Amino acid sequence: MSIMQMDQAAVAATYKRFPVEIVSGKGSVVVDPQGKEYIDMGSGIGVTAFGIADEAWQQAVIEQIGKVQHMSNLYYTEPCARLATMLCEKTGMKKVFFSNSGAEANECAIKVARKYALQQHGADHYTIVTLQQSFHGRTLATLAATGQDVFHSQFLPLPEGFVSVPANDIEAIKAAAIEHKAAALMLECVQGEGGVRALDADYLQAVAAFAKEQDILLIVDEVQAGNGRTGKLYSYMHFGIQPDIISTAKGLSGGLPLGATLMSAKVENVLTYGDHGSTFGGNPVCCAAAISVFGRLTDELLAEVMAKGEYIREQLIGAPGVEAVTGLGLMIGIKTTKPAAEVLKTCMDNGVLCLTAKDKLRLLPALNIPQEVLAKAISVIKAACAE
Ligand SMILES: *Cc1c(COP(=O)(O)O)cnc(C)c1O
Repeated sequence: MSIMQMDQAAVAATYKRFPVEIVSGKGSVVVDPQGKEYIDMGSGIGVTAFGIADEAWQQAVIEQIGKVQHMSNLYYTEPCARLATMLCEKTGMKKVFFSNSGAEANECAIKVARKYALQQHGADHYTIVTLQQSFHGRTLATLAATGQDVFHSQFLPLPEGFVSVPANDIEAIKAAAIEHKAAALMLECVQGEGGVRALDADYLQAVAAFAKEQDILLIVDEVQAGNGRTGKLYSYMHFGIQPDIISTAKGLSGGLPLGATLMSAKVENVLTYGDHGSTFGGNPVCCAAAISVFGRLTDELLAEVMAKGEYIREQLIGAPGVEAVTGLGLMIGIKTTKPAAEVLKTCMDNGVLCLTAKDKLRLLPALNIPQEVLAKAISVIKAACAE
């Protein structure tokens, strides 16, 4: 039996997988069982920040596995404490709760917001206002937070206390927040799954000012756009706003499951003993991996991310079959004349793995993809768009 046959027989059919089996890789190149190489322009959906089998990352993981692979959260471990310290130092946030995924990082953010609003404003202040075309996860609460009805209809009833409004419409979010006595506004500064769309800077600034004035918390979902992806450490840093809570995951640990919820001074003491927990959250191996990633998100690396993003834009804007290029840094959406799924298929046949988001081709390459590998991938993508 091939990997594909075995998988189809025994793994739940929730993923529409491409007929590609990956057995190994190095950097931005992955390899199938026959030795065919693909350039990986998706990084496991923005997860393998420094590529496949990155040496520094591997070393950090192996070293920690050799010491202790897991302890319960009843005890202290160094990687967890060190990573939280790094995250706070780099963002000005005060406390971190570690979990295992983006959805869980958002669940924690929602719990913090609900408890804060209960304490400050009363029991009827529990609603989380989110944006249409957002994506916040697959658990029931984060599904409710996700402003896309396609994900909802078969899983009703969803937890209550979530409403979504159109993005970039300041009056709509203000009205919903007042009407529903919002506990928090929750958004992605660059919507990922919703079509790789950066929100308007003046909208984000107006939202942040309104939230502050009303003492409604601002939760920024940095699960996909965070950890260097857009050319800043976190995407909100492009827009001159200050969130009360940041959630992140995907690229944080470079390929191991880790979520983090960062809390500002305003909410740092909201969660107390017994309020929240996770058996695996803050796992020492995942945290050691994240320290290896996070320690390398230097100004030089971020400048490189910006430069590579610019290179991709220069190559693609105005190219045949390309209608628009969206996103920030190395989080890129390409509106193609042909259906994005067809362009993706052509790229795959020609050895380049891409993603889609709604009607766009989406690229989330490793932050350190070598320029010559990137150039090769872009030439394949350009040809596929033009075909
Ligand atoms: C992927 C994603 C999530 C969900 O993360 P999981 O790790 O799959 O739970 C949440 N928010 C955003 C913005 C994402 O891109």
